[in-house]
Amino acid sequence: MKKLLCLMGFALLAGCQTGVKIDKSYTSENQDSRSLFLVLHYTVGNFQSSLNMLTKASSRPVSSHYLVSESPVRTYQLVDENRRAWHAGPSYWKGHSNLNAASIGIEIVNPGRKKNPDGTESYVPFDEAQMDEVVALSAEIVKRHNIRPDRIVGHGEIQPRSKQDPGPFFPWKRLHEAGLIGWPDEALVAAKKAEFELALPDVRWFQERLAQHGFAAASSGEFDAYTRDCLVAFQMRYRPANFDGQMDAETAALLFTVTAPDGLKMKQPPVDRATAKPYTSRW
Ligand SMILES: [Zn+2]
Repeated sequence: MKKLLCLMGFALLAGCQTGVKIDKSYTSENQDSRSLFLVLHYTVGNFQSSLNMLTKASSRPVSSHYLVSESPVRTYQLVDENRRAWHAGPSYWKGHSNLNAASIGIEIVNPGRKKNPDGTESYVPFDEAQMDEVVALSAEIVKRHNIRPDRIVGHGEIQPRSKQDPGPFFPWKRLHEAGLIGWPDEALVAAKKAEFELALPDVRWFQERLAQHGFAAASSGEFDAYTRDCLVAFQMRYRPANFDGQMDAETAALLFTVTAPDGLKMKQPPVDRATAKPYTSRW
């Protein structure tokens, strides 16, 4: 009779649900967020073109969880955090690849590079209030998903061959000041820089340290285009005044420091320490 009522068009009546009945009496303590990474981008476009690109179907569909506009500054959520957005492309960081499956993406409205009258190109600085918003949004996401400091990355770091965003003007130091990422111990950098000025490590050393830091390995022993791309991405974060991609003593000192056991300093206790929980992700 009940079945008959449903078939007669009363499907919305209570008691007519179909499917497996799930008992949620028990919850495992052994779990964490699927979002292990936070990836930062700039859009290379104005707000409207960025919004179209990130929301409309196309032959090369892309999306991000968040889009932060600049005038006015506003955060738009385009994809639910529990869903996968398509922003990272072919990517790698510290043993993980295809980061779309395990990351939250923030796109920042910014043109990227602009052409100068003399024909050269330069990067376009970010709006200050827009950066306040990005730092605040990042802090909230990191707290929600307990994202590790070493997994907050730029697109250019996880795809150095073809991407440079969020570029040399992105204020990584501000994420450090907010307690979200580590920063190289300045005393150690200074000491190692003096040392490396006397004897610069060889290409293989640079490649091994880049890989140890997180980049997809390039251990050819040759100073190739890929190694240069990785150095550009590394310098954009830690030494944005000069990101020529060359091997020099300061870059070596920074690479040594970020891969040294206690070389990266946190400004404040990481988010999870504040909530008295260990980093739950084991992978
Ligand atoms: Zn990007």
